[in-house]
Parts: sequence; structure tokens; C-alpha cells
Amino acid sequence: METLADIGLIGLAVMGENLVLNMESKGYRVAVYNRSTDKVDNFINGRGKDKNIVGTHSMEELVASIDRPRKIMMMIKAGTAVDATIDALLPLLEPGDIIIDGGNTHYPDTDRRVKYVESKGVYYIGAGVSGGEEGALLGPSIMPGGSKAAWPSVKPVFQSIAAKVEDGSPCCDWVGENGAGHFVKMVHNGIEYGDMQLITEAYHIMKDLLGLSADEMHEVFKEWNEQELDSYLIEITRDIMAYKDEDGEPLVEKILDKAGQKGTGKWTGITALDLGVPLTLIGEAVFSRCLSSIKDERVEASQILTGPKTVFEGDKKAFIAAIKDALYASKIVSYAQGYALMHAAAQEYGWNLNYGGIALMWRGGCIIRSAFLGKIKEAFDQQPGLTNLLLDPYFKAAIDKAQTGWRKVVATAVMNGIPTPAFATALSYYDGYRSANLPANLLQAQRDYFGAHTYERIDKPRGEFFHTNWTGRG
Ligand code: NAP
Repeated sequence: METLADIGLIGLAVMGENLVLNMESKGYRVAVYNRSTDKVDNFINGRGKDKNIVGTHSMEELVASIDRPRKIMMMIKAGTAVDATIDALLPLLEPGDIIIDGGNTHYPDTDRRVKYVESKGVYYIGAGVSGGEEGALLGPSIMPGGSKAAWPSVKPVFQSIAAKVEDGSPCCDWVGENGAGHFVKMVHNGIEYGDMQLITEAYHIMKDLLGLSADEMHEVFKEWNEQELDSYLIEITRDIMAYKDEDGEPLVEKILDKAGQKGTGKWTGITALDLGVPLTLIGEAVFSRCLSSIKDERVEASQILTGPKTVFEGDKKAFIAAIKDALYASKIVSYAQGYALMHAAAQEYGWNLNYGGIALMWRGGCIIRSAFLGKIKEAFDQQPGLTNLLLDPYFKAAIDKAQTGWRKVVATAVMNGIPTPAFATALSYYDGYRSANLPANLLQAQRDYFGAHTYERIDKPRGEFFHTNWTGRG
């Protein structure tokens, strides 16, 4: 009799194929299935040839070829395809078997599916997988959540295929209950939007205010990547700056300035609004993509609307250092906001999130991987109950050091008419968060004036509400 597989995988598109090859390379026997079964044959006769992989042509055959408790991972299009696949699998499974969704599912769907699948006696894990095609093959970041009882069975496979950081720790650990894994993946994607926006703002200022060429910016990003900003996104930006089109000109300057998006940044923003968390930087990053996308309207407006003349007088080298300060300080704010969102969600949904572990999961394998995340892990290891990353001594000192340059860059950009929504909103958040007093007293007065919404007084105990007849009219 043929040896049973250690794990099954449904969905042989880009991600699925590479994950299967990754699992197989770590010594696992993998059974595979795809709705269009020709893809199974193509894979088995192609990239999967002569490997410890079993091709199957029906769900029944797939289920029958996996050892119990069965672990079956779906790497398919998020949405109704996942519900349909779960419904097709459930009648074939036995209690204790495990269904895993590794796709980009929105976390409320995973919440719902965990409950549904568990009600049938089967376990369910929703795992965010980041790192794209290359990560899937060589080591992704994996963020699993759902039925905790299933984690011991899945852990060895996931931790062996995940990316590893310098000390060998895997970029995969248990995140939390129900949809927590997909939630954390969503926040990861939102943070990715923020990090990308911050880099584009640095580029915009260097190009339009300082007049730097792509080659000069290549040198700047190269230097930054060797310091505290060392990260995958700075590294690829360095390489993008150096990339020449066929005519020898930098390709980046020929690309239409219209950004696309698939919706995970938007989900993060909507969730922040729902939970009442000021996630301003990711919000601005999403809106900036929206503004970029109305290219024709912007071109028309550029003929009508005026702004200041762009002039730079001063030391370019010193200003480049200030741009780096602005980028670093804004990045700290963005992660502080992202972590505040996870904190609020954990409270709302009753998840017990491991914040240091999340930083470690993002430290390698994924798009936002960076040296910086090691510092975030240290911050939460030292103070697991840290309310805001800005209060951690390391990050407080980093902002103290960076803030003069940060303020100078935002002010100079404003005076020169160069939009820096992420740098500026990060600074406003920082100044708001460190303010014992904000002008919300006036706002409360306005609300009470037009809507009798009442207000509390600073000279009376909290929880005592007052209303004033502001006009004196009856
Ligand atoms: P994809 O293009 O998102 O999905 C294609 C796969 O889904 C194919 O195997 C397809 O089967 C299957 N599928 C579609 N509708 C189905 C249905 N109704 N029933 C059963 N199977 C169905 O593939 P992908 O890019 O490899 O991504 C897989 C998942 O990982 C997605 O959720 C994606 O968002 C997520 N993800 C992708 C990346 C990335 O870089 N691409 C990174 C992280 C996460 P057929 O061949 O029969 O059409």
C-alpha cells in the first residue's frame, strides 16, 4: 500500500505550487488537488516530477491519501471558493481532521468558518501567508489562528517551511483564536501600504525639491539600507532606482503614476474606524493611492490650481539626513498605530495576542521584513503590556533624535507644495498623542450647542454630564 501523505494541499496556482515544493523539500509527503485537474497533471509531470508528491483528481482521492488526523490546506481564491471547498470537504472528513485556509481571507469570514467547521467536529485554521511566490517556495511568514487544539499537529510543518531569522527562530507562531491570524495578516498588509507610502514621499522630496537623479537616490537608499532602515522595501527601492530602461534611462520615471490596490489596506482602515483607533498613516496611504488613481483629473487640475514655487536653499546632504529622520520617525508612528489596532481588536474579540511573536513573524519572509521589527519584538518582550510603542524607551529615544529633522522636512515640504500626507499625519498623531490637552473641549461645546449632547467638566468628577442653554433661548 502506498504511504499516506503528511499533508494535503488544494489549489495549485502560484502560491500553492510553491508551498507544496517547500513542504516537500523539508521532508513532508504532500498530496495535492486542484479544481481544474489538468493542473494536477501538469504539476506532477513538471515542477513536482520525481518528488514526494501525490497527485489526486478528486476530493475523495485527496482525503483518502492523507494520514490522520488529516491536515488539508486550501491555497485558493479567497471568498465563496473557500466556502464551497469547505462544504465539499466536510462530509469526507473525520473528527479531529484539520482544514487550513492559507489565502488572503478577510478575518470575519475566518471567524465564521472556525465556528462552522468546529460545529462539525473538524478543526479550522485561518493562516495569513506573506512573502509572495518566492516566500512560498523559500520561506514565507505564516500567521495562523483559529482552532488552537489543531496547532500542535500543524506547527511542525508550518515552522519548518517558514522563513527563519538570524538565530534560527521561525517566522511563524500561534497568533490567536478564530480570525486572529487573518486579522494580523490584514494589519501586516496595511502596514505594508504605510511603509511603501513613506518611501514614496522620501523619493518625491528628493526628486522634486532636491533635484536628485535616480542614480543619486539609488546611493541614498543603499546607504539607508545599511542603517536602521534596513528592510526589504528599502532594498528593492534601491534596486528600482538603479534599473535602466532599454534607452539607458531609469525605468521608474517612465511608469504611470497611478497606484493600484487589492483592498487589504482598505480593510485595515475600515477596521480601525470600526474599532475607533486612530490609524491615520495607513489611512493616508490608502487615500494617497486613491488620489493617484484620478490621474486625468489631476492633470486637468494642474493646469488650473496654483501653489508655491519649489526652491531649495541649503545643505542637501543635511536635508537628506532629515528625510531619513522623517521616514524613520513616521515608520515608528505607523507601527505604533498598527499595534494599537491589534491591541483594540484583541480586547474587542477576546484574543490573547502575542505582540512580540507577531513582530518576529514579520521579521523575515514577508514584504515588511526589516531590522526594525527586531526592536519591536524586544520592546514587547521587555514590556508585554506596553500600551503604545512610542512609550518604549528605545523608540522614544529614536523619535527624540529624529524629530527636529522630521519637523523640518514636513514644514519644508508644505512650504514648497510637495504633498507628504504620511509624514505629516504621523507628526500630527505624535503631537496629538503627547498632548495632555487637545481642543476637543470646544468640539464638545459645539456638540452640546447644536445637539444637547452634554459635556463633562474638568472641575467636576468624570462621569458627571452637563448641558448648557448656549443661546439663552427657551
Ligand atoms: P489565485 O489566483 O488567488 O487562485 C487560483 C486558485 O484558486 C486556483 O487553484 C483555482 O483553481 C482556485 N479556485 C478559484 N476558484 C475556485 C473555486 N470556486 N473552487 C475551487 N478552487 C477555486 O491563486 P494564488 O495567487 O496562488 O493565491 C492563492 C491564495 O493565496 C489567494 O487567497 C491569495 O489571495 C493568497 N495569496 C497570494 C499571494 C500572491 O503573491 N499571489 C500572496 C499571499 C497570499 P482552478 O485552477 O480550477 O481555477
